[in-house]
Amino acid sequence: NDVKTFFIRNSFVIFTVAAVIIGIILGFSLRPYHFSYREIKFFSFPGELLMRMLQMLVLPLLVSSLITGIAALDSRASGKMGMRAVVYYTTTTVIAVFIGIIMVLIIHPGKGSKDEFTKPQQIEQVSAADAFLDLIRNMFPPNLVEACTKQVLRIRFKTQYVKRIIQVKITVNDSILMLNGSDEITEEEMIPVPGAVSGINALGLVVFSMCFGLIIGSMGEQGKPLKDFFDCLNEAIMRLVAIIMWYAPIGILFLIAGKIVEMEDISAMGGQLGMYTVTVICGLLIHAVLVLPTLYFIITRKNPLVFMAGLLQALITALGTSSSSATLPVTFKCLEENNKVDKRVTRFVLPVGATINMDGTALYEALAAIFIAQVNDYDLNFGQILTISITATAASIGAAGIPQAGLVTMVIVLTSVGLPTDDVSLIIAVDWFLDRLRTTTNVLGDSIGAGIVEHLSRHELKSKDLEVGSSVVEE
Ligand code: ASP
Repeated sequence: NDVKTFFIRNSFVIFTVAAVIIGIILGFSLRPYHFSYREIKFFSFPGELLMRMLQMLVLPLLVSSLITGIAALDSRASGKMGMRAVVYYTTTTVIAVFIGIIMVLIIHPGKGSKDEFTKPQQIEQVSAADAFLDLIRNMFPPNLVEACTKQVLRIRFKTQYVKRIIQVKITVNDSILMLNGSDEITEEEMIPVPGAVSGINALGLVVFSMCFGLIIGSMGEQGKPLKDFFDCLNEAIMRLVAIIMWYAPIGILFLIAGKIVEMEDISAMGGQLGMYTVTVICGLLIHAVLVLPTLYFIITRKNPLVFMAGLLQALITALGTSSSSATLPVTFKCLEENNKVDKRVTRFVLPVGATINMDGTALYEALAAIFIAQVNDYDLNFGQILTISITATAASIGAAGIPQAGLVTMVIVLTSVGLPTDDVSLIIAVDWFLDRLRTTTNVLGDSIGAGIVEHLSRHELKSKDLEVGSSVVEE
């Protein structure tokens, strides 16, 4: 009987874990058949559907949860909570960058000659200043409807690997950022990075929703209809999420199996690239398994393992989709239902976190930039490493929570210290894999942040219990 109750209670998690295992086995057993690109796309179709369903919910979820989350608190409480969140985001991101830099300096994966890689040919440069301006631009979308469909930075690229990459083309806002390889790649041949092209301008929507929520909250009685509207919208979306969760294991199974079938022969990876991969994995592990849980424990005095176990499904979804924004609905579910984090905190903190707090991405970008310097035999001085850490932080804030967004914002980091931007192509071969790991770290960082902010804000939350809209406090 106990076994039965355990199974029923944890059915979602069990299905999801089973999906990962079956996905991996299926993927590896189908690999020898060398399916064509089209066949692989057919095969991973159920996974693509999951991506689309989750992404479909992100927009209304992000907007409604932020607006109600902020409107539910008075401006003093939301100010305090916001400050705590910002301090947490900044601290953890800085720690992450630091770990990345230490790891890459110690392991030094870029030792050896650059001949392991093909020489890319550069077409057009995007400067760090341009990229910074894009970051600010994104905060103020001139057209809200357009902000729901696209952001200023976008990426599409085509890669083909033989032993190494032979063709890469990255376009940003339809102008060619870099082209690597001999032949011009036509528009039809380009593979859009899933989600990247249709990415929403989350940063702009976050800024707007926060301001809007603050205003509605300050309007008292007059603001109530809008508050109720977004409250109800949020509740309805979360119910939709609950339905999609039943489909999630199937989607994750095919996402993982499809990717394994599609991936290039790992043994063809050069020594430097292999070492680089190991370095990134070590850095991310230290941050996710050591730093974040310890921080959680020190501040809340609660068991971080229990907290992380409650997040398992969100972490696996992040691994499967490599998008923290697509994972957002699942993260909400896990935090609110399994870990019982106060809804006023999750609604406020999670959408912001998923958009700007990306520890894994920050760690990765700093590490990758120094790796590229090492490959080029380029000695970085202390000032340059400092510049890298600052720009890596900015780049992680600017990166959208979509697959491989970090690769585009890498350009900011590279240009800031005069490294060749087209060398992004050196690491593209393994980026799809490392992207999944850094996304998982990103989601973990956001979730632990919500747990910590809740703990620190417990007094404000207690004293305000009765003031908020009904559905916010219902449990
Ligand atoms: N894919 C990551 C995310 O969604 C962003 C990145 O490319 O680093 O969190």
